[in-house]
Amino acid sequence: MKNNDFYFCGILQKHNQSITFETKKLRRMKRDKSLRCLVLNADYTAMSTITWQMALSVVYKYQNEPLLGVSVVDYYKNEFILATNGHRYPIPAVIVKNEYLRMDNRKVPFSRKHVFVRDKMTCMYCGNVFSSKKLTFDHVVPRALWKGPGTPTNWQNIVSCCFPCNQRKGGKTLKQVNMRLLKRPTAPNCGGYVLGLGPWNRIPQEWEQYIPNHYKDICNGDS
Ligand SMILES: [Zn+2]
Repeated sequence: MKNNDFYFCGILQKHNQSITFETKKLRRMKRDKSLRCLVLNADYTAMSTITWQMALSVVYKYQNEPLLGVSVVDYYKNEFILATNGHRYPIPAVIVKNEYLRMDNRKVPFSRKHVFVRDKMTCMYCGNVFSSKKLTFDHVVPRALWKGPGTPTNWQNIVSCCFPCNQRKGGKTLKQVNMRLLKRPTAPNCGGYVLGLGPWNRIPQEWEQYIPNHYKDICNGDS
């Protein structure tokens, strides 16, 4: 078992419940990387996704502390874990925070998936839309020419880019290759973002009504 599973068992043991995983089912779930739980803010806007183990942990951990806790909105229809007493525990698909968390000024953590979401799967040079497998990153100011501050791999210097445009630009500046950006890249705020949800993720049926429309256009589970 991995650390997460030990952690989860520990939480349940604290609540005097003896749980073992049904091995076959667990193996299946581990292969299914998309089996995560969607976390909603108290106003039911989608905020982030967490592992199903973590979701079960927080549900049990804070069940007697309503303000810190979460409520389960929906469970996966066909996923469960089996306790030694034969009881089937359903796995949360969507949980909602009981207390509203202000998100307006929070920045989205820099990551490949969040850059693709920001740029709406569009090459920022030619303007064409691609699947995540046909899209890559480009450093607007090439790494070799970066003079700081900080790292060149940041929100203001990274854009989504198709392979042909990436090849054309290479390690040169925009001026040197006579290319232009469609839009100046900036660091987005959390509003409208579901942290951790990438364009290559499949959106489970249980999440659909909570996911902003622009994700439905770009998420296709293509890797
Ligand atoms: Zn392009």
